[in-house]
Amino acid sequence: MRETQVLGAVRDAMEGMGGLFPDMANRVLEVHRRLVDHYGVWRWIQRREPMHELISTMLSHRTTEADEARAYARMRERFPTWEAVRDAPVDELIEAISPARFPSTKAPNIQKALATIIEERGEASIDFLTDLAPEEGLAWLLRRPGVGVKTASLVLLFCFGKPLLPVDTHVHRVSQRVGLIGPKVGSDTAHRILLALLPNDRHTLYAFHVNTLRHGQRVCVWGEPNCDRCRLTDLCDWYRQNRARGRP
Ligand code: SF4
Repeated sequence: MRETQVLGAVRDAMEGMGGLFPDMANRVLEVHRRLVDHYGVWRWIQRREPMHELISTMLSHRTTEADEARAYARMRERFPTWEAVRDAPVDELIEAISPARFPSTKAPNIQKALATIIEERGEASIDFLTDLAPEEGLAWLLRRPGVGVKTASLVLLFCFGKPLLPVDTHVHRVSQRVGLIGPKVGSDTAHRILLALLPNDRHTLYAFHVNTLRHGQRVCVWGEPNCDRCRLTDLCDWYRQNRARGRP
C-alpha cells in the first residue's frame, strides 16, 4: 500500500472512530503503562548503523533474528562493499543470503534499493535522513524497492529517533486482539492509527514497540494466547469475547 493510500485509509478509520478516539487513546496508554510495568522502561538509543539496519530489516521478513544475522554476515563476507552487493551476480547474492527466507525475492530487491540509493545520493549512505522530517523520510524510503512501511518506520525510529512506530506481526496481532485497531485493519494502517493514539515521543514509541513485540512473542502468541499470564485481560476484546463468556 502506498503512502497516499495509507493516509486515506487512516482518515477513514479515524472518522469511523468518531467520539471513541479519546477513550481509545486512554486505552492505548493504559496498555502501554501495564506493559512497561511488566517488561520494563525502554528508552530510545541509537541502534545499528543506518545502512546495516535497512538491509538487515529487508532480510528479516519472516526470518528469525539468528538467520537474519547469518544471512547478513555471509553477504558482507562475500561482498564487502555495498557497491559489490549491488553489482553481484544475483544468483550469488541469493546463495549468500539463503539463511533468510525468500532469498530469491530479497536479493533483487536489495540490489535495486542499493542502486537507487547510490544513484540518488552519490554514495551508499542514508545518513541524510536525520535532517528530514519523519513524513519526508518515510516517503523517501518507501520509494526503495522492497521497502515497506514497517521497514521504513523501523529504520527511522531505531537509527534516527524519528517518532514513528514499526508495526511488525507481533505488534499487529496484540493490538488487534486487545482492540486498539479493528479486526480488518492491516499493518500499514495500524501504524498510522497507533501513531495518532500514542504520544509523539520517540522514547514512548520505542518502548511501546519493544514491549508489545515481547508480549506477542511470550504471552499473546500465535494460536492460543496465554491469557492466564496476561495483565491486559480487563482491557482486551479478544479475552472478553473468547475467555470471559459465562463469567459473572
Ligand atoms: S488477554 Fe489474551 S488475547 Fe488479550 S492481550 Fe492478553 S494474551 Fe492476548
